[in-house]
Amino acid sequence: MMISAKTQMVGIIGYPVKHSLSPAMHNAEFRELGLDYVYLAWEVAGTALGDAVRGLQSLGAVGFNVTVPYKQAVVTHLDSLAEEAKLIGAVNTVRFEDGRAMGYNTDADGWREDIESEISLRGAIVCIIGAGGAARAVAVGACQGGAAGVVVCNRRRETAEALCELLRHFFPHVDVRCSSLCGDACRELVRSAEIVVNATPVGMASKGGTPVPAQWLLPKHFVYDTIYAPAETELLREARERGCRVRNGIGMLVRQGAKAFELWTGVKPDPARMEKAVRAALAH
Ligand code: NAP
Repeated sequence: MMISAKTQMVGIIGYPVKHSLSPAMHNAEFRELGLDYVYLAWEVAGTALGDAVRGLQSLGAVGFNVTVPYKQAVVTHLDSLAEEAKLIGAVNTVRFEDGRAMGYNTDADGWREDIESEISLRGAIVCIIGAGGAARAVAVGACQGGAAGVVVCNRRRETAEALCELLRHFFPHVDVRCSSLCGDACRELVRSAEIVVNATPVGMASKGGTPVPAQWLLPKHFVYDTIYAPAETELLREARERGCRVRNGIGMLVRQGAKAFELWTGVKPDPARMEKAVRAALAH
């Protein structure tokens, strides 16, 4: 596909961002669907975030994705937030609409759709390890998916408490519990769940390790790791060896991307094809 004077622009803002798989995923799908769009990656310093948002708007970009560390910081530079972004307190997708910068969060739906392709959330107890941006999206996705209970275990207990407060406020029918990341109480909460989700960076290629001791896992657990590189984290390997069903975060990446794609273009992409493009980019 040729870039021309009419090509529409989208992309991703983050720091760092040069490792992002989103350009490969979106550009491949634009080509497949014959859409005259291009997706770029912009590494933006914290002090320049507001200028970057206003600059993209002035240049006529359709919108952009937001990744670490700006999912929360970008909110102050937007005109309005969709319900889900308000609830999660973070934005991963922006669309410029009639001169206004509108913030969305597609991570919760992306995660929910992906895990529900394997296991129903309805009536389940979901244990989330972590309480940052990804964990907030997973927690909201779990509640929206009909989970009976959500357990939040985080290194800093006060962050877990804050997330639990929010969940209790918006989803009063869900049994919400929280804990720090160690000790017998945490072990018993993990063991009370059917689904365990790692929403921390522990296990990423450079970091290794597991966010909770692998001995805490039981064969009944469905273990989901939001990490997708490496494809099998230490947590997923240990879980698989203990007889658990496991899934990594590629599907979440693809489905949150597919929702952003549709918000920008109005066209439904093919998630299976987008996943193929992600896997090809990962293999390079
Ligand atoms: P974040 O907002 O910075 O939150 C990080 C969370 O991890 C915090 O709860 C933090 O705990 C915890 N944490 C960090 N280092 C830890 C350690 N060494 N031991 C225990 N806990 C630790 O980051 P995020 O945006 O939520 O991202 C978290 C993970 O989700 C990343 O690995 C990212 O790749 C993944 N993710 C995947 C997708 C996808 O589409 N698959 C989308 C978004 C994110 P404290 O509060 O104690 O600091």
